[in-house]
Amino acid sequence: MLTAGEALRAARDTLAAAGVPDPAVDAALLLSHVTGVPQLVLRADGARALTKEEERAFGALLQRRAAREPLQYIVGEVGFMYVTLRVCGDALIPRADTEILCEQAMNRMQGHERVLDLCTGTGALAIAIKHRYPDAQVMAGDISDAALALACENARRNGTAVEFRQGDLLSPFSGEQFDLIVSNPPYVTGAEMASLQPEVRREPALALYGGEDGLDFYRRIVKAAPQCLRPGGWLLFEIGSAQAAAVSSLMAKDFADIQVYQDYEQLDRVVLGRLK
Ligand code: GLN
Repeated sequence: MLTAGEALRAARDTLAAAGVPDPAVDAALLLSHVTGVPQLVLRADGARALTKEEERAFGALLQRRAAREPLQYIVGEVGFMYVTLRVCGDALIPRADTEILCEQAMNRMQGHERVLDLCTGTGALAIAIKHRYPDAQVMAGDISDAALALACENARRNGTAVEFRQGDLLSPFSGEQFDLIVSNPPYVTGAEMASLQPEVRREPALALYGGEDGLDFYRRIVKAAPQCLRPGGWLLFEIGSAQAAAVSSLMAKDFADIQVYQDYEQLDRVVLGRLK
């Protein structure tokens, strides 16, 4: 019979040998997930015996993590702003960095705006905004049916009425007028795709690859957005950390008050502007 302490030590070694960046953290999180016992209790009570069932389930999850499957896909959910979202291999895992974009959008809202989230993936931005501002009218689009099914489920679980439409960028929204358009589009460059972390490789390339220079989606959205934004309406993007100048200059023709915001690592992460 294995104790929690023994299981955690062995798991940490297995994950470290597989090159997992924070092996002890991930081991504790997975054991807590399997047993339903809080991590602090597991750490404090290392002598606690695991059942055969727990030992087997823990072993299976550890193998997946050692094969560099993202922790969030294994656990199946992630927190974003004030909501909890189900995640799976059909959409990008929402990142803490994307909360910066979400906050900037919320800072520019009073509560009754019409908001569009393009390339919504798990639905993170749209759902968090609707959760914070229930009177806003929030729509969201994605080209992937599988991502949209996940986003719909996430909206339902969080009790938020977001209107989802499948299609290529703004095409399902022609004729609509929004006060804000937010988007975390695919922006990884061709060169970066070749050197992604093993975990990021498990995420859909469709959600990551932004064309050779990573800017394809910004070009297309910046060009099409003015038809769907009211004058003075905001366009807000998450960007790759080297893309602030390029995206700002794409926006310069039709947008004013262009600003760049940084993430928690002081890397450029958000570019936004207001339709002239
Ligand atoms: N931030 C993601 C990464 O870590 C990329 C997200 C995107 O392309 N929108 O690679």
